[in-house]
Amino acid sequence: MQSDNASHLQRIPVSQHGLMRAQISPCALKVTDTLQQAGFMAFIVGGAVRDLLLKSTPKDFDVATNATPEQVHALFRRSHIIGRRFRLVHVMCGNDTIEVSTFRASAAPEEHGDHVTDDTGRIVRDNVFGSQESDAQRRDFTVNALYYDPANEEIWDFQGGLNDIEHRSLRIIGDAMTRYREDPVRMLRATRFAAKLDFHIDESARTPLSQLADLLGNVPSSRLFDEMLKLLLSGHSMRAIEQLRDEGLLHGILPMLNDLLEEESGNRFIVEALKNTDARVKAGKSVSPAFLFATLLWHELQIHHQTRLDAGETTTPALFSAMEDTLGQQRARLAVPRRLDGMMKEIWSLQPRFEQRSGSRPFRLLGHPRFRAGYDFLLLRAESGEVPMELADWWTEFQAADEAQRATMLIASVVTEQPKRRRRRKKPSAAEVVEIVNE
Ligand code: ATP
Ligand code: MG
Repeated sequence: MQSDNASHLQRIPVSQHGLMRAQISPCALKVTDTLQQAGFMAFIVGGAVRDLLLKSTPKDFDVATNATPEQVHALFRRSHIIGRRFRLVHVMCGNDTIEVSTFRASAAPEEHGDHVTDDTGRIVRDNVFGSQESDAQRRDFTVNALYYDPANEEIWDFQGGLNDIEHRSLRIIGDAMTRYREDPVRMLRATRFAAKLDFHIDESARTPLSQLADLLGNVPSSRLFDEMLKLLLSGHSMRAIEQLRDEGLLHGILPMLNDLLEEESGNRFIVEALKNTDARVKAGKSVSPAFLFATLLWHELQIHHQTRLDAGETTTPALFSAMEDTLGQQRARLAVPRRLDGMMKEIWSLQPRFEQRSGSRPFRLLGHPRFRAGYDFLLLRAESGEVPMELADWWTEFQAADEAQRATMLIASVVTEQPKRRRRRKKPSAAEVVEIVNE
C-alpha cells in the first residue's frame, strides 16, 4: 500500500531554501503563531510556499494544522467554519482571509468515517483527520505539499517537492490514475499549474490525462466553472488553453475553444481576448468573469444569430434569442453561473449600438452603465479585424472629447452617413447641436 505514496520527511533549514518569515503575510503569521502558542502544529502550506520559492507573489496564504476546525474556530474571534465536502476554517484579519485546514487522513480504499467516494472513485466527502504525513500524501502535486514553519523558518518536505521545484517538474503524489479518479479537477489543476509556473508535467501525471478526460463530465459544473475561471485568470490563459487542447481536455468543457484555436477568424478574436486578459492580470488589474465569458462565447453567439437570420427572423429579436441559444448550450457543459448572464447579454447587445454614430444615440450609449465593458469588447473586435479600427478609434475620441468636439464629430458622421437628407446653409453652433441631440 505504501509503495506509491511512500514519503520520507526532510526538514530543510532556511540556509538551504531561503524563504524567510518576513515574506509571509502578517495575517497568516498571526494564525500560525496563535495556533502554535495554543500547543498545536501550524504551517504555511500549498501555493504560497511554492510561489515564494519561485520568487513570485502568492495569491493567498493557506495554513495547515493538527487542530480540528472547532478548535481553530475557538481561537479566532473573526472566523467561521465552511464547506461540507471539505470542512475548513476561514480566519479574517483586516481584509485578508486565511484558509485553515486540518491535516487530512490519506484516502483509504474502503469507505470509512466521513470519507466517501462515488462509483467512479470520486471523493464526495473528505473529513477524516489524520497526521501531517498523511495530509502531505493526499495533496495533489509534490510542489503543493511543502510545509513552512514560520517559527523556525524550516520547510518540511515529505514528497520531494523542493527538488521538483528546482527541476520545474509537476509530479503528482501517488498513482496518477487513482488520484485523477478521486478528483478529476486535478487534471485541470495540472494544466493550470504547468502553464502558470512554466513547469513540465511529469510523464506519469501527463499520460492518463487524455484517457480520463471524460471524467470531467462527472464533476459538478459549478466546481468546473470555478476551476476554469482560475485557469483563465492565471495570467497564462493562452498557454493553459493550448495545453488543455493538447491533452484532449477541452472538448467536454469549452468545445468552442477547441475549434476556435484552429480556425483563422475566430482564432484572432479569442487570442486577442485571452492576451488582453493575461496582460490585465499581470498588471494587477481586475478582469470581470462576465466579460471574459462574453468574449469566449461571442462566436457561438454569431453562429446562432446567423442561423436565426437565415430562418427569416429580424435582427434584434434574433440576437436576443441567439443569446438564449448560446447560454443554454453552454450550460449543458460547463455552467456559466446565471448571475453572469445579465452582464454578458448587456455587453453583447451593446455591440450593434456602437455602429450608430448620429443623433442622440451615442450620448445615450455613453451614459449606459455597461458602456465601458461594451467599449472594451468593441476594442477587441477591432483589434481582431472584425470591425474597422476606425469605429473603435471614433469611440475612443468621442469619450475623450468635450461637448463641443463631440458635437462636431456627430455632425461629421451625420454628413457622411446621410449626405443628402439635410441641407444646411451654415454649420450649426455647438449649442445648436446640443439642442438637436437632446431632442
Ligand atoms: P493557487 O492558490 O495559486 O491557485 P494553490 O496550490 O494554493 O494554488 P489552492 O486551490 O489554493 O491551490 O489549494 C491549496 C492547497 O490545497 C494546494 O496547494 C494543494 O496542496 C491542496 N489542494 C487543493 N486542491 C486540491 C485537490 N483537488 N486535490 C488535492 N489537493 C488539493
Ligand atoms: Mg492557494
